[in-house]
Amino acid sequence: MLDVIKLLPDSVANQIAAGEVIQRPASAVKELMENALDAGATQIDLVVKDAGKSMIMVIDNGCGMSETDARLCFERHATSKISKAEDLIAIRTMGFRGEALASIAAIAQVELKTRRKEDEVGTRIINEGSVVKEQSLVPMQPGTTFTVKNLFFNVPARRNFLKSPQAEMRHIVEEFTRVTLMNPEIGFTLTSDGKELYHLYSGNLKQRIMGLFGSSYDSRLLHVRQESERVRIDGYIVKAEYAKKTRGEQYFFVNKRFIKHAYLHHAIENAYMEMIPKDSFPGYFLNIEVDPSDIDINIHPTKTEVNFLDVKLVYAILHAAVRKAIGQHNLSPMIDFDESADLNNDFGAAMNLSNPLAIPNVAIDPNFNPFRKESTPHEKHWDNDFRKEKNTSSGDWRLLYGERTDIPNESIGKVEEQQQEFRYLQVNQSYIVTTVKSGLLLIDQHLAHSRVLFEKYQKELENHSGVSQQELFPQALSLNMNDASLLKELLPELENLGFVLEQANPTTFMINGTPTDAAGCDAVALLEKILDNYKINRTDLQLDRKLNLAKTLAAQLSVKEQTKLSQMEMQNLVDQLFACNVAEIAPNGKKIYVLLNMEDFFK
Ligand code: ADP
Ligand code: MG
Repeated sequence: MLDVIKLLPDSVANQIAAGEVIQRPASAVKELMENALDAGATQIDLVVKDAGKSMIMVIDNGCGMSETDARLCFERHATSKISKAEDLIAIRTMGFRGEALASIAAIAQVELKTRRKEDEVGTRIINEGSVVKEQSLVPMQPGTTFTVKNLFFNVPARRNFLKSPQAEMRHIVEEFTRVTLMNPEIGFTLTSDGKELYHLYSGNLKQRIMGLFGSSYDSRLLHVRQESERVRIDGYIVKAEYAKKTRGEQYFFVNKRFIKHAYLHHAIENAYMEMIPKDSFPGYFLNIEVDPSDIDINIHPTKTEVNFLDVKLVYAILHAAVRKAIGQHNLSPMIDFDESADLNNDFGAAMNLSNPLAIPNVAIDPNFNPFRKESTPHEKHWDNDFRKEKNTSSGDWRLLYGERTDIPNESIGKVEEQQQEFRYLQVNQSYIVTTVKSGLLLIDQHLAHSRVLFEKYQKELENHSGVSQQELFPQALSLNMNDASLLKELLPELENLGFVLEQANPTTFMINGTPTDAAGCDAVALLEKILDNYKINRTDLQLDRKLNLAKTLAAQLSVKEQTKLSQMEMQNLVDQLFACNVAEIAPNGKKIYVLLNMEDFFK
């Protein structure tokens, strides 16, 4: 019997390989653009027709190829980027497999024009279905232009399989975005059916993000940077309040290579955790630089997967970096507390000097304080408390605090010094209004307090430092078996928060002590609510235990709306809020305060 095994002709082998590498026009776009990057181009132009189905052209001003290389580049496993197996662990270029051009040429009609700087003329080659059809010399600028026509012309099944032009174009824009994001120093354009969709100038990453996603991103981004011995993280995250309902703007790169990595993605989302509503997604544009030998990028032909040698380390660093950026942002440099409680003099001066259009008839009184203004029609709406205080001269400080005659004299002296003016006003017994240098701050008291308590409980859970008060008459908490075993699991954490619980029988616990914040609460109802909310958070948010408990307890014990607060209580709350790591967003993801700019206020 005859032997039956034959080697496939190259054209067939290439066509099979192409099935993996080139799935749609966007794959060809990616490969051609990456080749241009690897060639050291500083300007790369992408032109497509018919969402890439009839034509994809990539023009670069990179190093170009010699005549021989121009022919060789279409061979399979032809690459200038690695030459031996060891090179694989030190890859810095985007390509290295030498498969892309062979694959593209197997399934399309490709024209290559290329010229090195040192050559007088360029080389032009036409390759159709892996067959060189033409070769000639061509006058041209240094660089390379690939034109790919009629992709899948000889694979009708594939061609018919393509999605609508809009969908294919979205894929192209997505690849374009991924490539351009990490190369902001390079200029790019994208033209589709004669219309220029993007014109990206050379600049920095922030400018590139704005070029791609719009100039509104100027104020939405937070810089993230973290360096350690083996890992360097750099990029931007989008502020929590701009989280989107769809997972769109999530760009994660390793050594500038776009990757998908569910575990590391979780590190980022988790860092936002209690600031973003549960159905929203944070945006990010982050690059991790690692030694190429610490990763394995060779596991998937389209290369969006990467294996890390020490992925736990990367997770921890990434999480910390994002956390830090969010924390620093929320220290809110723009909210600059006004110690003297009068209006910012700089602002008054600026108003007088620079802007002739600015409210010409209003003389600026540097002592103007909107809370002290003589009666206006609006004042009727302020609550009684405030009106009483308004009429109090600063000497009559005792009246200020009403029932707070229990304050020892010493501390009153201090308070009086700091509080020459009435700085806090409660509106609707739910919101606190106060002045800061840049304007008026309107704070939701319940949300503010839940943030303060949330961070406090997190600390207590870490440091085992919750303070408890004893119950005079210990109450019994009776639960079903499930809840009883859940409570038992949570006992150590609950104790860290200040609960003192004792198991009387399998389903009953004696409540001997509660956290001091819970003074006056119904301890049984509180614990029942904690268990309920804990269960909800656990399934819906998949929060970790401590985060979950801190969040639950903070929600239960924070001051509610429609609760009257004294000046002192308001001051304490505001001070504590701005001492938090994250002052802007409550644990439930809602915005805690709004700042009304002085400038807007005057308008
Ligand atoms: P790889 O990028 O994996 O090396 P490709 O098939 O994409 O494989 O490209 C093969 C070779 O062709 C590259 O290694 C490079 O030497 C050359 N080449 C491809 N595109 C360009 C370009 N735009 N400019 C200069 N050389 C290029
Ligand atoms: Mg390549």
